[in-house]
Amino acid sequence: MLIVMEAGARPEQIEAVVRHIEKMGLKAHPIPGAQRTAIGVTGRQGMKDPGFVENFPGVKEVIHVSHSYKLVSREAKPDDSVISVGGVDVGGTGVVVVGGPCAVESIDQTRRIAESIKLGGGQLFRGGAYKPRTSPYSFQGLGEQGLEILARVREEFDLPIVTEAIDEPTLKLVEQYADCIQIGARNMQNFSLLKTAGRSRKPVLLKRGMSATLEELLLSAEYIMSEGNYNVILCERGVRTFSDHTRNTVDLSIVPAIKRISHLPILVDPSHGTGKRNKVLPMSRASIAVGADGVLVEVHHKPEEALSDGPQAILPATFAQLVREVDAIAQVLGRTLQPALATS
Ligand code: PEP
Ligand code: MN
Repeated sequence: MLIVMEAGARPEQIEAVVRHIEKMGLKAHPIPGAQRTAIGVTGRQGMKDPGFVENFPGVKEVIHVSHSYKLVSREAKPDDSVISVGGVDVGGTGVVVVGGPCAVESIDQTRRIAESIKLGGGQLFRGGAYKPRTSPYSFQGLGEQGLEILARVREEFDLPIVTEAIDEPTLKLVEQYADCIQIGARNMQNFSLLKTAGRSRKPVLLKRGMSATLEELLLSAEYIMSEGNYNVILCERGVRTFSDHTRNTVDLSIVPAIKRISHLPILVDPSHGTGKRNKVLPMSRASIAVGADGVLVEVHHKPEEALSDGPQAILPATFAQLVREVDAIAQVLGRTLQPALATS
């Protein structure tokens, strides 16, 4: 259920509705928008009918939302959400480029790549300290030492950090070090992890599961939001199909499909999406053209020596070209490349 307040509703009127909802044992989520505030109601509504809040002062209408996702929907918030990741806005009119290695391998490797991301015009840095690998014998990441390296790199290059948490204990660590918690494709439906992320104060980058539908992706975002963390960024990273010329198939049409029904920003990851270095640049251009709020790409200065995902890592020079071209395409669409943080 969604309670839409009048455009001029006063804070105490909103507060009165919230108190009433909570008194009924339900959860109230005030969602301020450009035009009006809506209050999402979650929890087991069952027999309780909070419908008569319709008569509360300041209430415009009560909408019974028929689909299972609520807080993620444009009905709850008609205008686009803009989410700050360490001071860089994701969503709205700006587009962002997130770049970095698949995995943090050493301080030297991470510094070297971070420098190229900053010089190339990227706004956010990525790199895994905890790697969910298909084989237990593959490199699993440096763990907390990797997070320390990321934190040092953030200070040195003024690049906010996005890094993955793979379970509850690593999420607790990631939220201490990083600016944004990544939940990977393999964990998109790890509901207890989603709830833990929902109780964090850090924004969450939620990647689409490799066989998840649009509705499943939105419901996973809803899990995070229903716990009170409204700062969710979605990410299309390719799904499994019969096509075997790429690692996965980038489902670009999910971008406009999501934009129609959700206010959340969505990025595209053409690195995991294609698994092939030579496809990353063209698919990045296409992602922006189709309306994505940015791209997330893997970069390595020596891809042949990378401990994971070398074949899909682009070189620093290609990264700089990618940022320039993303910027040019964004401008055709009346958007701009988000400014990077100034170097302190
Ligand atoms: C990653 O971004 O490092 C990653 C493992 O991606 P995904 O979860 O999309 O496979
Ligand atoms: Mn990777």
